[in-house]
Amino acid sequence: HLTMPRPRHRRIFSVANQKGGVGKTTTTVNIGVALALSGLHVLVIDLDPQGNASTALGIERTSGTPSSYDVLLGELTAAEAIQTCPDAPRLGVIPATIDLAGAEIELVGMENRENRLKMAIEAIPAEYDYVLIDCPPSLGLLTVNAMTATQEVLIPIQCEYYALEGLGQLLRNIDLVKQHLNPGLLVSTILLTMYDSRTRLAEQVAAEVRSHFGDKVLTTNIPRSVKVSEAPGYSQSVMTYDPGSRGALSYLDAAREIAERGTKEIA
Ligand code: ADP
Ligand code: MG
Repeated sequence: HLTMPRPRHRRIFSVANQKGGVGKTTTTVNIGVALALSGLHVLVIDLDPQGNASTALGIERTSGTPSSYDVLLGELTAAEAIQTCPDAPRLGVIPATIDLAGAEIELVGMENRENRLKMAIEAIPAEYDYVLIDCPPSLGLLTVNAMTATQEVLIPIQCEYYALEGLGQLLRNIDLVKQHLNPGLLVSTILLTMYDSRTRLAEQVAAEVRSHFGDKVLTTNIPRSVKVSEAPGYSQSVMTYDPGSRGALSYLDAAREIAERGTKEIA
């Protein structure tokens, strides 16, 4: 049964930050599972050639598996590439295979190279309430495809040194996509990840991000937690690996905040 509000219209998020290791994949996976276990229908699209989101969700991604690459190239419809997450029957996943590593270059010569994912997403089955796209750690054509296909950007920020470095560049790129490709694009959500409440540094980074971005920043911070980092090794989200852990409960809170904000504030 449903324990979080269903949005009136499908919400599509790019989970993006060109810095690697800030928690994009972990956030996509755990927010996705949290929403799906709460009764909503969620589709995760793995757009990182490393395929970490697919692996963490227990999804087959060997070469030849129907994947986001085939969907981008228009060789398969989105529906044809969806697998179901073994731990969450309402969670569909379009995995990334190694083929995606070449896509950034293959796309360059193609027509509508920035719009291909957007076109594919229009054909996603109607039942999905949320679509979360796990972006690679770059601002290349894959990320541009994601941002062109979505209304909302979710930026995970790691509470560490240099956390804010590169953020200006990310925001400028989002603005460019907005001006030229997708006028409705909005940074709706910022999530502070790997927060270590024992350090002043984490506190300082959090305070700075909050003063910059105001209520775009979720109230919930995700703590640094061993359980969160162990879960992918068992092909699981922390939501199922250790549902009572602080990491899992924090991701559940963050997902609830996202769901409760609904589409109202997003204008
Ligand atoms: P990205 O997708 O931005 O590159 P990941 O989500 O893969 O980042 O996270 C980078 C690394 O940090 C991974 O090894 C992941 O398991 C670990 N990690 C992410 N979030 C946490 C957390 N809250 N606590 C501890 N480790 C984390
Ligand atoms: Mg990643």
